[in-house]
Amino acid sequence: MQVDAEALDIGKVRHSTLVDSAGTRYVDFRRSLTPRWSTVWTTLLCGHLALALSAALVAAVGGAIDAGWAASAGLAVAGGALIGFWLHYLMTYLHEGAHYNLAPDRETSDRLTNAFVGLFVGMNVKSYRKVHFEHHRWLGTTRDPERSYFAPLDLRFLVEGCTGVRLVRALKGYREVVRGKARPEDGQAGGGSVDGVLVVAVLFNGAIVGCSLWAGAVVLALAWATGQLLFLPLLNTVRQVLEHRSEFADDLTDYSVVPHGPVNRLFGDGLFAAVFGAAGFNRHLLHHWDPSVSFTRLKDVERFLMDTDVAPLLQRRRTTYYRTWRQLDRI
Ligand SMILES: [Zn+2]
Ligand SMILES: [Zn+2]
Repeated sequence: MQVDAEALDIGKVRHSTLVDSAGTRYVDFRRSLTPRWSTVWTTLLCGHLALALSAALVAAVGGAIDAGWAASAGLAVAGGALIGFWLHYLMTYLHEGAHYNLAPDRETSDRLTNAFVGLFVGMNVKSYRKVHFEHHRWLGTTRDPERSYFAPLDLRFLVEGCTGVRLVRALKGYREVVRGKARPEDGQAGGGSVDGVLVVAVLFNGAIVGCSLWAGAVVLALAWATGQLLFLPLLNTVRQVLEHRSEFADDLTDYSVVPHGPVNRLFGDGLFAAVFGAAGFNRHLLHHWDPSVSFTRLKDVERFLMDTDVAPLLQRRRTTYYRTWRQLDRI
């Protein structure tokens, strides 16, 4: 069954039709929405700092306790969740980079995104952009390549997420999009050759694991690998489900055959929403409506829209990650 998307999305509301109570047109207001670069870089580097502190904490606790294998394995999984959480935080900035919003100049933005994010998560922003722009174009249709939300949030989803099945499937789909859309001028990022950013990222992450083992920090080595291979993809796919799966979706319908319909949400400014939905994912509804606006200005967009006729539409889609999880939870 297709969900009633009309009631759940502001995608069809045209920018040119919106005017606030003071008579300002959105298309005029929009010109004032230049990115706040200091916020972009402060919040991104805070992610690196949190990741480094988490790794140090895992190493310190792992070194301090002299427990058996079971306790060490448990600590490695808990540490993996912590490290994976902050890797996922960095991953949200790959998305911001895909929209050229890490620096005023596009080529510089791409280089910085690959250096500060791609290195950690193993994805070239140019390749990700091809997939992600298709997501914007085909949201809610059977052609959407970011399709985690097609599946119900059940035990199978979590098991597939934890074991890497979902990751492999997603990467295969991404590869098809990247290859399908490859043009000669895109160079190695879109071709059949191995991506340079991926190679450097594998070496970088391998060095972290290798150096940890060499230093005797076995728990940290295991936690880093678990965070990277298990928790990062799991958190990424769960976040996508919470953003786009309808609360009225049918668990038995195959949305790769039947269109799901475009669905978006506003998750607010709570502490969890600010870090789990970093780089503007907590206002993903507004991002889909006007994708070129920097995440540092989405709050201004929200304020403007709340002073227009579409305010009730926004109000209806206001929720929290926890409430959405409770609505979609089939575990
Ligand atoms: Zn989206
Ligand atoms: Zn986007």
